[in-house]
Amino acid sequence: MNTLFAADALLPGGWAKNVLLSWNAAGQLTQVQSAAQPAAGAPVANGPVVPGMPNLHSHAFQRAFAGLTEYRAQQDSFWSWRTLMYRFAARLGPQHMEAIATWLYAEMLEAGYTSVCEFQYVHHDADGRPYADDATLSLALLRAARKTGIGFTLLPVLYQTSGFGGLPPNEGQRRFIRSTDSMLRLLDTLKPACDAQGARLGLAPHSLRAVPPDALREAVAGLEAIDPSAPIHIHIAEQTKEVDDCVAWSGQRPVAWLLDHAPVDARWCLVHATHMEAAEYERGAKSGAVAGLCPTTEANLGDGIFDFSAWRHHGGAWGLGSDSHATVNAAEELLMLEYSQRLAWRQRNVGASAAQPHVATALTLEAVRGGAQASGRAIGGLAVGQQADFVVLDAAQLALQGLPAPDMLSAHVFASHRTSAIDTVWISGQPRVAAGRHALHNEAAAAFVAARSQLLQENRAP
Ligand code: ZN
Repeated sequence: MNTLFAADALLPGGWAKNVLLSWNAAGQLTQVQSAAQPAAGAPVANGPVVPGMPNLHSHAFQRAFAGLTEYRAQQDSFWSWRTLMYRFAARLGPQHMEAIATWLYAEMLEAGYTSVCEFQYVHHDADGRPYADDATLSLALLRAARKTGIGFTLLPVLYQTSGFGGLPPNEGQRRFIRSTDSMLRLLDTLKPACDAQGARLGLAPHSLRAVPPDALREAVAGLEAIDPSAPIHIHIAEQTKEVDDCVAWSGQRPVAWLLDHAPVDARWCLVHATHMEAAEYERGAKSGAVAGLCPTTEANLGDGIFDFSAWRHHGGAWGLGSDSHATVNAAEELLMLEYSQRLAWRQRNVGASAAQPHVATALTLEAVRGGAQASGRAIGGLAVGQQADFVVLDAAQLALQGLPAPDMLSAHVFASHRTSAIDTVWISGQPRVAAGRHALHNEAAAAFVAARSQLLQENRAP
């Protein structure tokens, strides 16, 4: 039996004092006892213990060009960003993918994420031909997750068209395109590999613009045959152009169309449900689906602002993703989410709830719960039966020193000035980050920089 004693811990119902966490050899919490006594010689946390944050949306390779599109070109929009992303993706090989993802996942762990949903859409080689082993790039990501220890949900992406109404794919999309049958074969191939390392396998129909209705229906049915409760993630309403195109095609906005034409329920994650009308907020929230919010990426790309209060008013579940990885920091995503709402509605403490007046506490608990649901894994917080995934804040960090535990979490989110206030991070009961550092930090960073340099050189070649 393994244990950790914490003077303060954030349990699903709120902050508790003198908490003894115990877990079994499988890394599953077997006891979460408040008002406990520390056993002599048992490990004691160096600060408040909070649940690990699931990251529900990641495109790992995009970490390699974070920061490289922050200059003015002829037209600075999401669509010009995407053009650069396609150019970058064109040269990516399995060794680059693994190096980039290994560093990214180590960064995530150091920044308070304990698991990640990988929305994996680069499938084929640079010419658009399937690799000899069709699962090559997905397996590179699984290896990166295993090496770093991060919890993993793999979501192979179905991508077939370049726009609504079955528009043929363009040259930049050649590495993403596959038939529904070949996707279902890929899922069959990946299922044992995922099971072998405790990862969950799901499916990501890329978006309504990239997946025609018949393919969406067949792919979801095929996934259900493999695993009836597997997670399903889709990009849904990120850009107003996408909404306008969907209305022109179907007469409906994307979220409304999806709710009318797909079996949307608690398995689903609606990523970037940014542009919804009142009825979509209500129906979407009540469907049980998780809203996948990616606050720093949505800000970086100029997407727009999700109406967080409307979604929560209808009891909507939600979680956080770092998506393009312009920022890799769970606390900063919470900060950006809260600040976007303050700016939009000219209010403070939008994220507080009746049960939890502290914004950082309320947001952390809700994001963990929704993120766990979207991940399809038992990672929903510090409770018996959940995986022992948690983060110990550093009570000696200047911004936190001497404060009560709820204020320490607030300071971590709102006042730590982008320096980490994280001491240790545990996944499945094993410490993966100690004194703020992942064991692979230096080695993974060097491999990442080498991979990025190589991709940039190849990009610059005529
Ligand atoms: Zn995305």
